[in-house]
Amino acid sequence: MNKFLKGLSLWLIIILVAMLFARLMRPQEHKEIDYSEFKNYLRSGQVVEALISEALIKGSFKNEKGELVKFKTVPVEDPKLVEELEAYGVKYKGEVKKNWLSVVLLNFGPILLFIFIWFMLIRSMQAGGKQAMSFGRTRAKLMDQSKQRVTFKDVAGVEEAKEELQEIIAFLKDPKKFQKLGGKIPKGVLLYGAPGTGKTLLARAVAGEAGVPFFSASGSEFVEMFVGVGASRVRDLFTQGRKNAPCLLFVDELDAVGRHRFAGIGGGHDEREQTLNQLLVEMDGFDTREGVILIAATNRPDVLDPALLRPGRFDRHIMVPNPDLNGREEILKVHTRQIKLAPDVDLKVIARRTPGFVGSDIANLVNEAALLAAREDKKAVEMKEFEEAIDRVIAGPQRKSRMISEREKKIIAYHEAGHTLVAKLIPGTDPIHKVSIIPRGPALGYTLQLPLEDKYLSTKTEITNKLTVFLGGRAAEELTFNELTTGAENDLHQATEIAHKMVCEYGMSDKVGPLTLRKKESEIFLGRDFAKEKAYSEKTAQMIDQEVRKIVEDCRSRAKELLTKNKAKLDRLAKALMEKEILVGEEVEQILKHAQEVSPSERKSRTRDRNKKSRK
Ligand code: ADP
Ligand code: ZN
Repeated sequence: MNKFLKGLSLWLIIILVAMLFARLMRPQEHKEIDYSEFKNYLRSGQVVEALISEALIKGSFKNEKGELVKFKTVPVEDPKLVEELEAYGVKYKGEVKKNWLSVVLLNFGPILLFIFIWFMLIRSMQAGGKQAMSFGRTRAKLMDQSKQRVTFKDVAGVEEAKEELQEIIAFLKDPKKFQKLGGKIPKGVLLYGAPGTGKTLLARAVAGEAGVPFFSASGSEFVEMFVGVGASRVRDLFTQGRKNAPCLLFVDELDAVGRHRFAGIGGGHDEREQTLNQLLVEMDGFDTREGVILIAATNRPDVLDPALLRPGRFDRHIMVPNPDLNGREEILKVHTRQIKLAPDVDLKVIARRTPGFVGSDIANLVNEAALLAAREDKKAVEMKEFEEAIDRVIAGPQRKSRMISEREKKIIAYHEAGHTLVAKLIPGTDPIHKVSIIPRGPALGYTLQLPLEDKYLSTKTEITNKLTVFLGGRAAEELTFNELTTGAENDLHQATEIAHKMVCEYGMSDKVGPLTLRKKESEIFLGRDFAKEKAYSEKTAQMIDQEVRKIVEDCRSRAKELLTKNKAKLDRLAKALMEKEILVGEEVEQILKHAQEVSPSERKSRTRDRNKKSRK
């Protein structure tokens, strides 16, 4: 509809411009003459005909050479004109006033055109160029639940998030009963995760499960060109919510409104700030007992204004993760429900081939495959189409950055296996809780260690061990691929940081001694003579550098040594990671235990088996 309107207005502009040009370009066919001149021609009998209207007389006269010349003239008050015309035998007739539209267009055309263009400009400057008339109203869309009710059956691979949302559903189903039982309900729920992981879908499913209306709006719609428009839209959204309680309000892209205020030099953005304030006011003002729940989604929880996350606002945070192998298979199942699959289609294999895909990528993939099959006039979608569709989705422009190739997956697996194995091999380090090679935020994978108890003091040994674990990832990459990648940047940064602290803050270096050589805060600011503030000499600085380097180097060689000695275990762990993508602590335990039982000779024969297989 919007596109249609846009197209229409574009045409209007083109037509108007064309009309204007036509008018400007038209040759002046009527010679403009003075009224007195006209009378002269008339009296000398040259005028042939005249078309008389109130404001203009047009006609033609014969000039001296006998040519017919068209003329026009502005008449003056002349009651005897008709008499004279008759006397000289001129053909004449009257004309009614021009119709008003053409007068307006002819006289005001350029101005109108200008206004029109200006109007269009303003409109397109506003987000998305939507209707300009409904400024203050929210664009919250009410989803008709009876038509396309989404339930939890349509959302796959996010079991934990579903679990956490159960409570909200119970509340929305019967707010009174829920409160009688003493349940306390959060006002706002924040869903966060990468784009396309199904946050919107989940919110809709909550409304669908509870059977309540679902209003959705996008944060970017709240930030308009005119100050105050966004705020009034927010107000309107909440009014609608109250009117329709119990119901669910959903705000997508919360970060568009909810960015940290005062962020960046040069102050804030007035409109956004006002909108954000309005949102906070509304959230504080409404009572959950009214039966309205607000769910918001973002892929940048880190940039949100802390005020939004305070108790009584979005105080429940639910992560919607990128799907793992099983999750992807489940999502594939959901999206292939309506599609006829050939017997050769194995969803497990497809899931395995699509690391890094999120829900929307998979929906896309299934769609592409179905289209390809339709083009070939096939009765069912075959594996071949899925294979091609995977390539297409991966090649898609926006997806590219998120997709992980088979080789990258292997590198990431070895990297994380390196962290894990080093941690396992050094006694006394925190137990491994989870290892994952599913990207999360900027990290391509992660190894999660959880301490058994809270600690307030760390020994030098503990810190060095931790450092060794940090460096284990890169060591494993080096060992396996004989090459370095950029993936370990964060590890190195952290390792350096720790080592620096050991030397400068904890006094753990023998050479430097038990001194605190913290950098002065003022060093950070420019414009000050910070050389004077430096708490240590150039020589000490060099020594610090050396010591930091030594600590990191030592830990690195230790990690490498550990991994070299246990290469078989490393391979096993990496392989398991590539297969399952996520391993929990016990699984890691199992895999490593198993690896020990395999003797070197056995391992050889296994490798041979594998080689045979791959040669086939
Ligand atoms: P987000 O709001 O997180 O950006 P959406 O909810 O808009 O993602 O997801 C877009 C589409 O991708 C959905 O309409 C659905 O078809 C598909 N999709 C995403 N996640 C899932 C999922 N977990 N299960 C099934 N389909 C999904
Ligand atoms: Zn790492």
